[in-house]
Amino acid sequence: MNIVRKIGEFPRNPTIITGFVPTMGALHEGHLSLIRMSAKENDRTVVSIFVNPTQFGPNEDFSRYPRPFEEDCRLAFECGADLIFAPDAEDIYSTNPTTVSVPYVTDQFEGQRRPGHFQGVATIVTKLFNIVAPTNSYFGEKDLQQCALVKKLVDDLNLPTNIRICETVREPDGLAMSSRNRYLSSKDRELAPMIYQVLARSKDLLLNGEDIESTLDLQAKALSERGFRVDYLALVDRLTMHPTQSIIDNASLIIAAYLSNTRLIDNIRVVG
Ligand code: AMP
Repeated sequence: MNIVRKIGEFPRNPTIITGFVPTMGALHEGHLSLIRMSAKENDRTVVSIFVNPTQFGPNEDFSRYPRPFEEDCRLAFECGADLIFAPDAEDIYSTNPTTVSVPYVTDQFEGQRRPGHFQGVATIVTKLFNIVAPTNSYFGEKDLQQCALVKKLVDDLNLPTNIRICETVREPDGLAMSSRNRYLSSKDRELAPMIYQVLARSKDLLLNGEDIESTLDLQAKALSERGFRVDYLALVDRLTMHPTQSIIDNASLIIAAYLSNTRLIDNIRVVG
């Protein structure tokens, strides 16, 4: 088992085609699909497991975030990982760390609701790219705004890695897999698939020419009536993560909603 814990011990090898899957651990089929894809497309696959403190807000779940490290390693190696990079926060961050911010794509939605989150993401992703030097890097479409951020980061800073976006993996009832689903009570777990049902229904209605605003209002209301606290349900251009008033190329529907204290996000492509 090849597990590296120190940046200085990371075996950089620019001659090997390297795929990279950054994660915060608590691996599920969504993560494993990225690892399998990387193993298929590269000579070496590196998986990082790092619960990044700087992307959690003060009232978020950093301390209780699940950390089943041994099980994660077993799963990652089983799915084709060659090396796991699991650094300590002290090795990653200096006392007054340099940070990276990606404007515009982070203006709204998760960026607005979770101050500091995307700066934490952009900074750790930049650092990990510099440490791992991957040929190809794998991200899940589940976190759509993160995908837009990473693509812009790599374009704007000319970072030498190809960004590969992989489809959202879902439970059989449609709920997008997430490490946070384990926080759901059994009652909330039963309700949770409604999020994807609403996305799919809204997509159909919009493609049938229904009015965007009233459709999204009605669908959000349907969720509220079942006990969800809807943060947003919006039609966006998934490259810019700004709202669009019409069904354009790259249109996606995005949603964030709470069930009790658990915040769930999901999205569906409407065009493309
Ligand atoms: P996380 O551990 O939550 O930081 O996620 C690590 C990577 O796995 C990110 O690129 C996520 O977008 C991706 N991911 C998380 N859930 C899923 C899913 N259900 N399907 C596909 N990718 C996912």
